[in-house]
Amino acid sequence: LSERLQKVFSSLKGKGKLSDEDIRKVMREVRMALLEADVNFDVVKSFVKTVRERALGAEVMESLTPSQQVIKIVDEELTKLMGQEAVPLNKAPHIPTIIMMVGLQGAGKTTTAGKLANRLKKNDKARPLFIAGDVYRPAAIEQLKTIGQQLDIPVYDEGTDHDPVDIVKNGLAVAAENKNDYVIIDTAGRLEIDEQLMEELQKIKDLAHPNEILFVADSMTGQVAAKVAHGFDEQLDITGVVLTKLDGDTRGGAALSIRSVTGKPIKFIGQGEKLDQLDVFHPDRMANRILGMGDMLTLIEKAQTDYDEKQAKQVAEKIRENSFDFNDFIDQMDQIQKMGPLDELMKMIPGMANNPQLANINIGEKDIAHLKAIVYSMTPQEREDPDLLNPSRRRRIAKGSGQSVQNVNRMIKQFKQSRDMMNKMSKGNMAGMDQLMGN
Ligand code: GDP
Ligand code: MG
Repeated sequence: LSERLQKVFSSLKGKGKLSDEDIRKVMREVRMALLEADVNFDVVKSFVKTVRERALGAEVMESLTPSQQVIKIVDEELTKLMGQEAVPLNKAPHIPTIIMMVGLQGAGKTTTAGKLANRLKKNDKARPLFIAGDVYRPAAIEQLKTIGQQLDIPVYDEGTDHDPVDIVKNGLAVAAENKNDYVIIDTAGRLEIDEQLMEELQKIKDLAHPNEILFVADSMTGQVAAKVAHGFDEQLDITGVVLTKLDGDTRGGAALSIRSVTGKPIKFIGQGEKLDQLDVFHPDRMANRILGMGDMLTLIEKAQTDYDEKQAKQVAEKIRENSFDFNDFIDQMDQIQKMGPLDELMKMIPGMANNPQLANINIGEKDIAHLKAIVYSMTPQEREDPDLLNPSRRRRIAKGSGQSVQNVNRMIKQFKQSRDMMNKMSKGNMAGMDQLMGN
């Protein structure tokens, strides 16, 4: 999706005004791109219509190029479509808050139950109880128990021989006795919606009166997820959605479809198998993700005002050739000082916001002077070829710059890390980076 859009957007770059024809052309591409991302056809149709109307009616803003303006409108409308704001978990006026997990088999119900409990325990000091309501596969109960052990959260189960509705009833009684403030009911799924399953879930619902019925959807299933969501919503009147497996390379088209098909808020997203990999769903971030741009908009704006384009181009070239050296590093530092904090800037680049390497870079305003001092203490050869920097050279540089050897070592390590990272980014699917760098 992003590549496609980036192409169109960059073809618009530099034009003074957007004509009707331009907008039509972009909208055709946006429509194709969304369909490719497996967004529901009707959703795409009405989305494109909305954006087109807005783009046609919009005054050409002086501060934005026409292409930026279209990006902005597409971005804003996507955000709106997905609910604008993050929606918190429902909470019961009296304990316990009862959360029921529903969805197809393999969607991530049990895992998400664990993640949710983990989150509630950590953030709200909650004392949840799990109820093992998936009695069709012994492995499912074992899975929940393992999660319970990991998190030190009790699991109520009666094995596989009892009616799940009774299990839930008994489990709720236990929760009342132990004054658990949250009860999370794990339920069975099927490979597709079937009546028997729905009936069972309906009975559990009628009995437990959950405050939250979370439909768990595998984001990789795209449009199918939206259809299934619709089915569950019709039967159970779900209260929210959790979108799992967004750590894959899925673009998140499912978020768009599910939200507009059901009208129910997406509350969380799962981004990995681990129990801490559950995040609050932010429509604006998902819009950016669908566009594949991170906070590209802001970044482009920032970059265009502060960044010397020609120099940027040279740097991009060097990064690609992997000949980025300490001299370029100094130039970059100068540019960056003009732009603001580096780590914030980096976070706006797609895929960087959660990049663990980012934590290691961490270059603040005041460190830059030190970094420069270190580079100035290098010989011209050393600046061009960081591999020359053996321990004795490092000691000499440390002395010359008035920094500790550890500081010199750390700086060189950071330099190499960021160079590798930039190189990787420039080779990867980073049309956005090129755009940033003025190509
Ligand atoms: P259930 O049948 O709906 O209970 O699904 P499970 O919770 O058993 O999950 C099915 C599989 O998906 C398991 O292997 C999970 O580890 C995996 N899974 C669940 N959520 C995520 C996620 O957010 N990211 C990734 N990568 N895997 C997930
Ligand atoms: Mg399960």
